Amino acid sequence: MARYTGPACRLCRREGTKLFLKGDRCISGKCALERRSTVPGQHGAAKGKVKEYGKQLREKQKAKRYYGVQEGQFKTYFREADRVDGVTGENLLVLLERRFDNVVYRMGMAESRKEARQLVLHGHFRLNGKKATIPSMLLKKGDVVTVREESRSSVKIKELIEGMDSRIAPKWLVVDKENVKATIENLPVREDIDVPVEEQLIVELYSK
Ligand code: SF4
Repeated sequence: MARYTGPACRLCRREGTKLFLKGDRCISGKCALERRSTVPGQHGAAKGKVKEYGKQLREKQKAKRYYGVQEGQFKTYFREADRVDGVTGENLLVLLERRFDNVVYRMGMAESRKEARQLVLHGHFRLNGKKATIPSMLLKKGDVVTVREESRSSVKIKELIEGMDSRIAPKWLVVDKENVKATIENLPVREDIDVPVEEQLIVELYSK
């Protein structure tokens, strides 16, 4: 399925929650969801009863959109989460958090996951000292992300580095702002992940 290229704010209105897809705009008064919270479309304002399947579907869509992952890839993450030991729903969120683009976002080097994805694709980062350009790579404990030397002179990268001070990294990630470097000290656990998703509903959806 093709990547969604329509208005990002429409996705937030559809899910009825902030997905933080547009960086600093999301925390400002310009957030579209704060100004208009109805579901998009002709019948968006009509409130119907949401059935069990509908709730499960919405949680899955919300998680996918939050992390910018497509359907097929999301199913692959789910299968892996189900295969390994532990609680499947929590495993799923941990896998999503471990994505390279998410780590770049979490270290404060991008205003949104979408921007992080672009920066990774354009080769601005190194993983353990080597150039890495795959946003979906899953990082592991001990991995180190740095900004490529050659990229530091770019105006955009300079602005993002300056902005790092205003972004708070999660505790599983040790960020050295001076050297623009992030180390995965531990893999995250569920309480470290501030994503407003009821992952159990996603498990129920895929278990049908
Ligand atoms: Fe969602 Fe951000 Fe748009 Fe608000 S500004 S609706 S949080 S993408």
